[in-house]
Amino acid sequence: APLVGVLALQGDVREHARALEAVGARAVPVRRPSEVRAVDGLVLPGGESTTIDKLARRFELHDLLRERIAEGMPAYGSCAGLIMLADRLVDGIEGQQTFGGLDVLVRRNAFGRQVESFEEDLDVVGVEGGPVRAAFIRAPWVEEVGPGVEVLARTRTAAAADRAVAVRSGHLLATSFHPEITGDHRVHALFVRMIEEAARQ
Ligand code: GLN
Repeated sequence: APLVGVLALQGDVREHARALEAVGARAVPVRRPSEVRAVDGLVLPGGESTTIDKLARRFELHDLLRERIAEGMPAYGSCAGLIMLADRLVDGIEGQQTFGGLDVLVRRNAFGRQVESFEEDLDVVGVEGGPVRAAFIRAPWVEEVGPGVEVLARTRTAAAADRAVAVRSGHLLATSFHPEITGDHRVHALFVRMIEEAARQ
């Protein structure tokens, strides 16, 4: 089974580790450079992107993560993790950096006050067996996608409908929402399949 790291600087690390193990991967929290180098793929959890950015720089992980992602290490970012994978960010704080790799423009805290947190059922391309229950918590959305980025899901019933909230580009997967907290592990299963595909190439 692939060894999948969960970046453990801040955020809901344990929920992702559980979801990964539920779909047959080996999950390990990652916060040292040697640990980043050892994994076959990496989950960037939700939390607070400004904090994850600061801690990644303080723990001297920023450049290494940037490099590994650019070199093709499969990565899945959820919510704040989507922000960390974005090449371009709107409404970040002064000086906020991302690891990049995904050719998208992401708007942080995009859904605004009224709908800061909500859930809805979303059809996700590549996820079989009906819609995914998606929890949005002060979530970003994807505002522009570059060539090579596929939109896998858009919001439906939220006040802000038709927003891109799940994307894939080659070895990178990202969602605005948190599939790890609703007990539906099919997005993690998709990511583990991506890791297995990457290992075969
Ligand atoms: N609003 C948070 C941020 O900007 C993301 C929230 C989340 O990960 N649930 O990083």
